[in-house]
Amino acid sequence: MSNNHQTVVVIGAGPSGLTAAYYAQEAGYNVILLEKMNVAGGKGGSRKYKEFIVDFGPHAYHAITKEFTDIMEKHSNGKLLDIKIKQKLYITKKPIGYPMQIQEAVSNFGLRLNIKILYDFFKAKIKSIFIKIPKNSFKQFGEANFGKTLYDLCFGRYTERVFRCSANEISVEYARRKLPNASLLGFIFSLLTKIQTRDKESYLNVRRYMYHENGIGNVFESMAKAIKDRGGETIYNCKIKDIVISEDNLLTSINLELPNKRNIKCDYLISTIPFDDLVDYANIDMTNKNLMKTKLPFKHVVVVNAVLNRKQFSENHWTYLVNEQFYFNRLSEQKNFSIKCATKDKTLVMLEVILDSRDEEWKWEGEQWREKVEKELGFFGIKSKEIEDIWPTRMEKAYPIFLTGYESAKKKVLDDFSKFKNIISTGRYGLFLDVNMHDAMVLGSEGFRYLTENKVEEFYKDHKAICIRKRDQKN
Ligand SMILES: Cc1cc2nc3c(=O)[nH]c(=O)nc-3n(C[C@H](O)[C@H](O)[C@H](O)COP(=O)(O)OP(=O)(O)OC[C@H]3O[C@@H](n4cnc5c(N)ncnc54)[C@H](O)[C@@H]3O)c2cc1C
Repeated sequence: MSNNHQTVVVIGAGPSGLTAAYYAQEAGYNVILLEKMNVAGGKGGSRKYKEFIVDFGPHAYHAITKEFTDIMEKHSNGKLLDIKIKQKLYITKKPIGYPMQIQEAVSNFGLRLNIKILYDFFKAKIKSIFIKIPKNSFKQFGEANFGKTLYDLCFGRYTERVFRCSANEISVEYARRKLPNASLLGFIFSLLTKIQTRDKESYLNVRRYMYHENGIGNVFESMAKAIKDRGGETIYNCKIKDIVISEDNLLTSINLELPNKRNIKCDYLISTIPFDDLVDYANIDMTNKNLMKTKLPFKHVVVVNAVLNRKQFSENHWTYLVNEQFYFNRLSEQKNFSIKCATKDKTLVMLEVILDSRDEEWKWEGEQWREKVEKELGFFGIKSKEIEDIWPTRMEKAYPIFLTGYESAKKKVLDDFSKFKNIISTGRYGLFLDVNMHDAMVLGSEGFRYLTENKVEEFYKDHKAICIRKRDQKN
C-alpha cells in the first residue's frame, strides 16, 4: 500500500470512524484513530459480562448495502450469521407481529376499538374537505393521516412516552419517515388488494439481517485490528483536550490530555462524535449556538440488562412495548441473535429507556432497577426470583431528537462547518441522524472521500442522498 505521507486523524472507533479509517488507509494515508473507550465498535460494540456476550442493546446488521456487507463479512472470519428477525408489538395487552398486518391488527383491537378508529378516521377526512388541516408536527401529521384514535394508540402516546416530550414538538419530517406511506386508507387499500406499499428509505424494507455469532462488536474489533496491523495507530481511553484551528479555518493539530498527553499534527480530521462536542473541542464560533442547543438535542439511553434463570424468554428478537402500562420502550433478548451469547440454561433480556441526565434513573445502579424490571417482566409471567442479576448500560447522547424546526437549525450548523476545508463531521452523531450501522459506515467512507476531494460543502448537502445511492449500487 503506497503512502502519501499525509495524516488523517479519525475521532471515534464506531462503525463510521472505523470505516473512514479503513478507507483512508486503503488510499495511502497515515491513520490515527482516537477512541475514548477501551474497545472499538462504538454503540455497535459488544462486551463480555460473566458468561454472557452483551451488546449495547443487541445490534443486528442490516445487509442492504453490498459494499459494506462485504467489509463486514471480510472481518468476521466466516462467523457472520443470517438471522430471521422476529418482532412483536404490544399495543394492546395482546401481541401483534411487526411489521403490522392489517388483518391481525383488526382482530387484535376488538370491535369497539375498531369502530372508534374508523369513526375518528372518517371524521378527520371529512373535516379535511372543509378546512385545511395543518400538518406541521408529528402529532398533526399522525392525526390527519390516521384519525385520533389509531394515531394515539399506535404512534402518538408511544412517541411522547419514549421521547418524553409532546408530539406537537416533534418534526413532521420525522413523522413522514417513521410512519412510512401508511395512512388508514393505505391500510384499507392493502387489505383489499393485498398490495403493500413500501417506502424505499424505511427500515421495514430490510430483508436480510446479519449477526456475528460471538457478538456484532467482534467485526468492529477485527476492523480495528486490521487497521493497526497495516500500520495505523489506535489510541484507546483517549481524552481530547482541544482541536487547534488556524485563523484561516484550517485544522493544524489535536492536543490530547493525560494519559496520552501529546500534540498530533494532522492534515485531515474526520470526526464521528456528536457535532456539539466537536464545536466545543475546536472552540468553533457558531452563528447561532443557542439554536443548536435547543433545536438539536440528544437524549441518553439506558439499557437495563437482566439475567433470567431460564433457557429462553421468548422467540422474538425485539418486542416493542407500545402500551402505556409499560415503562421501558423496547425489550430484546441477546441469545436470540446468537445462541453463543448466553449459557444453555440462562438468558439475558435487555430493556431500553430514553432518559435525560436530569432524570434520577440516569444514575441508578443494578438493584435500583429491580422494581421496574420486575414489574415489566412480571407482565410476561417472569417471577422475581427468576431475575438473577441486573445491571444498566448507559449510553450518552444516543438518540438525536428531531424537534420541529430542526432541519433549518441543522442546516445552519452544517453551513458553519462547511468553512473548514480539512475537517468533516460525519456518522450518526456528527450529522444528527438516526441511521443504522450500515449507513453510518457509508457516511464514514464517503465522508473521507468527499473530504480529501475537497468537497466538504457538497458532502453536507448530499449526505442523506449518498446513503440511498450506495444502497442502489450493485457493485
Ligand atoms: C439502543 C440502540 C440500538 C440500536 N440498534 C441497532 C441495530 O440493531 N442495528 C443497527 O444497524 N444499528 C442500530 N443502532 C444504531 C447504531 O448504534 C449506530 O448507527 C452506529 O453505532 C453509529 O455509528 P457511529 O460510528 O456513527 O457512532 P458510534 O457508534 O456512537 O461511534 C462513535 C464513537 O466515538 C467515540 N467517542 C465519542 N466521543 C469521543 C471523544 N470525545 N473522544 C474520542 N472518542 C469519542 C465513542 O466512544 C464511539 O466509539 C442502535 C442504536 C441505539 C442507540
